[in-house]
Amino acid sequence: MAASAPAPIVVLFRDDLRLADHPALHAAAGRGVPVVPLFVVDRDHGLGDGPTARPLGGAVRWWLHHSLERLSAGLARLGAPLVLRGGRPADVVPQVAGEAGAAEVFVIGSLDPAQAAAEKRLADALERQGVRLVVFPHDHLIDPARLRNGSGQPYQVYTPFFRALRQGLERPVTLPAPDALRPASPAPAPESLASFGLLPTAPDWAGGLRDTWTPGEDAAWTRLHAFLETHVAGYRTGRNIPAEPATSRLSPHLRFGEITARQVWNAVSAMAEGQGAETFLGEIGWREFSAYQVVHHPDMARRSLRHEYDAFPWRDAPDELRAWQRGRTGYPIVDAGMRELWQTGWMHNRVRMIVGSFLVKDLLLPWQMGEAWFHDTLVDAHWANNPASWQWVAGCGADAAPYFRIFNPVLQGEKFDPRGHYVRRWVPELAGVSDRLIHRPWDSPLEVARTGYAQPLVDHGAARHRALAAWRGLKDEA
Ligand code: FAD
Repeated sequence: MAASAPAPIVVLFRDDLRLADHPALHAAAGRGVPVVPLFVVDRDHGLGDGPTARPLGGAVRWWLHHSLERLSAGLARLGAPLVLRGGRPADVVPQVAGEAGAAEVFVIGSLDPAQAAAEKRLADALERQGVRLVVFPHDHLIDPARLRNGSGQPYQVYTPFFRALRQGLERPVTLPAPDALRPASPAPAPESLASFGLLPTAPDWAGGLRDTWTPGEDAAWTRLHAFLETHVAGYRTGRNIPAEPATSRLSPHLRFGEITARQVWNAVSAMAEGQGAETFLGEIGWREFSAYQVVHHPDMARRSLRHEYDAFPWRDAPDELRAWQRGRTGYPIVDAGMRELWQTGWMHNRVRMIVGSFLVKDLLLPWQMGEAWFHDTLVDAHWANNPASWQWVAGCGADAAPYFRIFNPVLQGEKFDPRGHYVRRWVPELAGVSDRLIHRPWDSPLEVARTGYAQPLVDHGAARHRALAAWRGLKDEA
């Protein structure tokens, strides 16, 4: 009698669109049974349940389309093409498992509270039809549940958190891509990627994204190698200069799990010892700290961690919000950043801090509005990095400074873009303005009239006083 064919394993991909260092794919391939790689495009473009669940932003959807294309091609080369399906994962995954005759579904766990809730729902749905969900460890470097301060509480401040992270971190183990995958026969039928409408069509606003980025695992490694060869040594100072390509630009690749923090950490630790490498590892540490905070405070994506900020007298000024979004505030460094974001789906970190401070402190608009705009327009929009960074900028997060930090957009511009290269690139109407005036063009009304550049929305000095008064009022009430 012929032995019955071994049951296939479904490998469910989520924010882990790669072949190498993929514990779930690696384990499934190692069993020697047929593998059904599956990605479920949520028809509502949602991510699951809970406070961090929300529809995907437009720029992220663009990236997802192309990243799935690359993953699909890579899996096809290994022998088991990606099955794409649309719908709610808790409905679709059991259905595909049933079609394939699978007894197990493998997935990499997530720290995102929305994804973690989705895992539970999926496990229940699969169990009802006798299929086991095997959840592999998440892709972050540390387990937030285990990293605690001396009193057993979660860390509130980054520096001791990072010290503890480094002390506890062995060299992370990474896995190779499988050499080959055994396909299921017959494999569940895929739906077409185009049918999910992830790309913008009316209008097609993605030209700048196409010119700037190549999604996918191969491109992530190209970026990492270029960074290690050229920029890591000077990263400590270079990373603050927005006109220079001195940072890694790995953020969207990390966001989609095309490369892991483990792989990046090992590569940087292995080849670089200087201050540049140390500073860079510290930024990977900020990524860990952001996730750590949201795991311990899941409503952080919506609500200020310091709840007294719920009573902050935010303004309601839709026209000013729109001017900020479109890069028409009249402050050159702010406008350059917002236009870089609009055109490329990315903004330099120093400028993210400046534009964030301007929205929250100069315009007194709630940080959640800025977070939502970034969520929609960033290719690296991340469930933890985005809200945690906005709360840091707004000063209402765990790591808040003991004073109300307000960035001066003119001084920041003069310090970090002294020759105005960054501003001139993104605000071309200021191209002919001298270095002396590039961050304060209003000092020469004739020049401004000639360029047609916007008048400042607010006077920074007066806006600063207004913000400090609002902050003091909040402190007095607390
Ligand atoms: P590099 O300087 O090369 O750093 C390497 C990696 O470290 C980054 O790819 C990123 O994964 C991580 N990292 C660096 N800085 C930070 C940071 N401050 N916090 C957390 N992780 C960090 N980053 C996102 O990935 N997604 C977001 O949605 C996001 N929103 C932000 C919103 C605001 C208001 C601010 C101030 C920062 C935000 N950041 C966000 C953090 C940071 O700006 C970006 O990670 C960084 O600019 C990405 O460029 P890079 O890959 O060249 O960074």
